[in-house]
Amino acid sequence: MEFTFLGTSSGTPTKRRNVSGLALHGKMSKHWYMIDCGEATQHQLLSTKYSVITLKAIFITHIHGDHCYGLPGILASASMAGREAPLTIVAPQGVIDMVKAVQQTTQLWLDYELIYIAVEQQFQPLCFDDFIVEPVELSHRVPCYGYNFVENNIEQRLDQPKLKASGIKPGPLWGLLQKGQDVTSPTGLTLLAKDFLQAPRQPRAIFVAGDNDTPSLLNNATVKPDVVIHEATYTEDIAAKVGKGPQHSYARIVGEYAQSGAIKHLILTHFSARYGYDTEESPSIADVENEAKEYYKGNLFLANDFDRFELNKKGELFLNHSEN
Ligand SMILES: [Zn+2]
Repeated sequence: MEFTFLGTSSGTPTKRRNVSGLALHGKMSKHWYMIDCGEATQHQLLSTKYSVITLKAIFITHIHGDHCYGLPGILASASMAGREAPLTIVAPQGVIDMVKAVQQTTQLWLDYELIYIAVEQQFQPLCFDDFIVEPVELSHRVPCYGYNFVENNIEQRLDQPKLKASGIKPGPLWGLLQKGQDVTSPTGLTLLAKDFLQAPRQPRAIFVAGDNDTPSLLNNATVKPDVVIHEATYTEDIAAKVGKGPQHSYARIVGEYAQSGAIKHLILTHFSARYGYDTEESPSIADVENEAKEYYKGNLFLANDFDRFELNKKGELFLNHSEN
């Protein structure tokens, strides 16, 4: 499983960070998934390997513009690029209303079908080829959701020593058993697939949160994630100055949540534009990192645009810096 950050800034873009967007690829199929689509996300996409043709679904966390103003443009471009397959949009109803209004008022005709799913009406996890996606309600100024992407269709593993002990040589029968089919051996024995399949490994899960001032709400996910991607808009001192109005998180509370929940990998994103890269100046992005590190002792990353992460089958996370 891999994912690429398309934008990591809060509210407004900066020269080095666009507003929120993430591309997630389960690698079981050619399809990939987008989470949030701030303005100019389609421009960011041009610098990655992802195409609007193979995009399976877009998940929007909430209606604020830095998370959804890129939608009309990307939908139009997909049509002009020749997309024909239906595209699913999972979002709060307000986002769906916005897209429909833009379609009507700007005469945006799409050559493919949009399948709308209003997340507040969605009480069951959503099933896709690569993921079972569980929406989790968060706490922000407007209705906001996080999405827990749990790996689907985990490969079956054969108990090879047992097969060999039964005198079944590697070959087509192994393939059929792995697919769950019962077979007849060359000596006429019936072999039941369930007798030769090992218990599947634990599914991997990646939780992509929206804006949220209460990180512990992520504990409502039914599957514990290996990776949590969460906003840390501020450090504690700036959050205190800004006040509770914006209902964002700061590094300490996200770190405390991840530490108490023994989250293995934590990636912070959605940084206020006031945090620059120059660590000699204050405030800097290093302030956010240092504060998080004080409270979280797991594997911490602060996302940059185009950072590409790979989560392997052992649950290890690797970062490949900027794709472009
Ligand atoms: Zn935001």
